Order: sequence, then C-alpha cells, then structure tokens
Amino acid sequence: MSTAPASLLLEPLARWFNQHRRSMPWRAENLDAPHPNPYAVLVSEVMLQQTQVATVIPYFERWMQRFPSLESLAMAEQQDVLNHWAGLGYYHRARNLHAAAKAIQIEGWPHGIEGLQALAGLGPYTSAALAAIAFQWPEPALDGNAFRVLARLLALEGDPKTHARQLRIWLRPALETLGASRLTQALMELGATYCGRRAQCQDCPLHAACEARRQQRTQSLPVVVARPKAVEVPLWLLAIEAQAHWYLLPPANQGLLSGLWRWPALEGSFSTSATTPSPLPLRQWKGWTQVYTHRRELVQPLAIALPEPWTWPGGRWVPDQELAHLPMGRRDQRLRSLLGTPSLQSVSRAPLEALLTALSEGGAPHGA
Ligand code: SF4
Repeated sequence: MSTAPASLLLEPLARWFNQHRRSMPWRAENLDAPHPNPYAVLVSEVMLQQTQVATVIPYFERWMQRFPSLESLAMAEQQDVLNHWAGLGYYHRARNLHAAAKAIQIEGWPHGIEGLQALAGLGPYTSAALAAIAFQWPEPALDGNAFRVLARLLALEGDPKTHARQLRIWLRPALETLGASRLTQALMELGATYCGRRAQCQDCPLHAACEARRQQRTQSLPVVVARPKAVEVPLWLLAIEAQAHWYLLPPANQGLLSGLWRWPALEGSFSTSATTPSPLPLRQWKGWTQVYTHRRELVQPLAIALPEPWTWPGGRWVPDQELAHLPMGRRDQRLRSLLGTPSLQSVSRAPLEALLTALSEGGAPHGA
C-alpha cells in the first residue's frame, strides 16, 4: 500500500469529477452538502447493486413517478412495488427496499452507519455509498469500480478485496478533505469510464500518480479471481391453460423469488424434433438462455391447452384477465409476453409426454 496520503493522490480525481461528471437523475448538483433527497439515493443505490447505470435510469425515473417519496413507497402494496421493479431482476432488492422504506418511515433516517447497515438489503457497500452520497459521512464505499481503480493506482497485488480493510483506513481522511459524496462518486465514475476493463490512461486524471500505468501493468491488475462456473440446466417452461385459466405457482414467502408468480417447469433434456401430432394443442417458441449468478437455464417455452383444469398440488388456476397483473421474474415475464405472439411451425411432443408421465405418477410440474 502506498504511504502517500489518499487526499494527495486523489485530489486530481476530485477536480476532474467536478468538471466532467455525467448527468444522472439521482445526482445532486451540490457535492458539498447532504443530498436534498436521500430517498432518491437509496433507490438508485439499490437499483445499481446488480445493474448497469444505463439500464437503471429509465427504471429509476418510472419508479420516482410512481413512488415519489419514501412515504409513498412505504404505504404501497408489495404487488405494486414488485410490478414496478419488473424487468430489473433480483427481486429481493425490491422487497428489501420496500421493507427499508417502511422501517425509515417509522423510525426516521438512521444517524450512523450501523443504523444504515441494519436496514433490509443494505450490505457494507450500499450502506457506505448511501452514507457518503446522501449524508456526506466519510464512509469508504468499495464496489467493483472503486476496487479496480485503487488496485491499479496503488498496484495492489492479489485479490483487491483482501486489501479492503487497509483501503478503508487509507481512504477515510480523503473523504473528509475532498468531500465524501464527490470522492465516492468520482471513484465509481472513473472505474466506469477511463479505468474500465481496458484502461484508457491517456486522459485519466490519475495518469501521473498511477503505479499500474507506470509499471505497464494495467492489463494484469487487478488480479481477476476465477468464479465457479455456472451450472447449465435445460428446462421446459410451461404455460398450461384450461378454460381461460392459467396454471401458476404462487409466490413463496421467502427466498430469492418470494413475492413472484412462476410458470411450472420441467427440468431435463428433451428432443426438440417434431414427432407424431400431439393429442392436445401445443404452442412452442424459440428458446433462450436465462443467466443467473450460479445457473444458466436453457429455456424452452411451451403453451399447452387442456380441455379442463386438473387438480394439481402446489399450483393455482388464475383467470386469464389477472395474468398480466401478476408480479413475475424476468424469465416468466418473457413466456407471458410470448403468449400473444406467433409460435413455431413444428413442435415437440416430448415435454407433453414428460408432463403426462409426471402426472400419472402423481407429481406435478415444479417451479425452477
Ligand atoms: S492511469 Fe490508467 S490504470 Fe491508472 S487509474 Fe487511470 S485509467 Fe486506470
């Protein structure tokens, strides 16, 4: 770790940010005062947890129209909240944001970092970013962008996260001197622009001080830590219809998919070649790969029309007119939107046979 004070090394970055910062709907004009709307910072930071800025902006704007204040979010129904999150993925973020808004409405905004960390869904990074950007508290917020910039600036060896504790100690005085909100956002912004995966050092405000640039190691720093490979799972996603009702799995009370309705699914590899005509009307669409952190689903979407609703455990028959209003995850929304579109010419009977076998054995399709 460098022994040079952070406020000295990072001063050009703070100056650069004053002049070149990108406009974002949640950014305050005045970087030296607490943010006039900490609720907007909370919403933006939670949305940005696993999503790029460009994707977040339209969601943020729609969200702030529907829930313009913390109170309006706290008082909203969970289904309404999830519907407005639809498409952003990782729905636990919406549920946590809703829970945090309710807690703040009752207790007021916390007065310290521990209070922010106690709110639902605010881990060490998000609580520190909120502390710095909303309240100007000198809490170092280290996300992937900040780690990359600092690892290169200081030529940190190994996984930069192993240096987190020392980095926080080193950064804190600079947050006080240069402005907590300004410096926090400047580090993120540099990591998202010049100091991305391929560093563009020419115009970087840290050009003169940067060790990785001086040592010509910007390609190899920071060290990339290999993640375990995601498991690939082929599955049929089934829209089963009978008498203007759809068979769906209702939301679980907890877990990543709590609050969301799901189509039933059959996991496994099935032949997609057309065989003999199906005894039931089937519609099939082109499949896609749904990517999650630890799992890649090779989704084959299919709709089956039954003559009448069958009684299966675990699911519910939902009237057709309610289908469009149910909160669903991205994968299940995609099948819902396919239902009104032309299907493929040739379809496979394989999933139908698998479904009939599962039913004859007393089982039902399950949610994946
Ligand atoms: S000089 Fe290059 S490697 Fe160093 S911080 Fe700037 S962009 Fe990143």
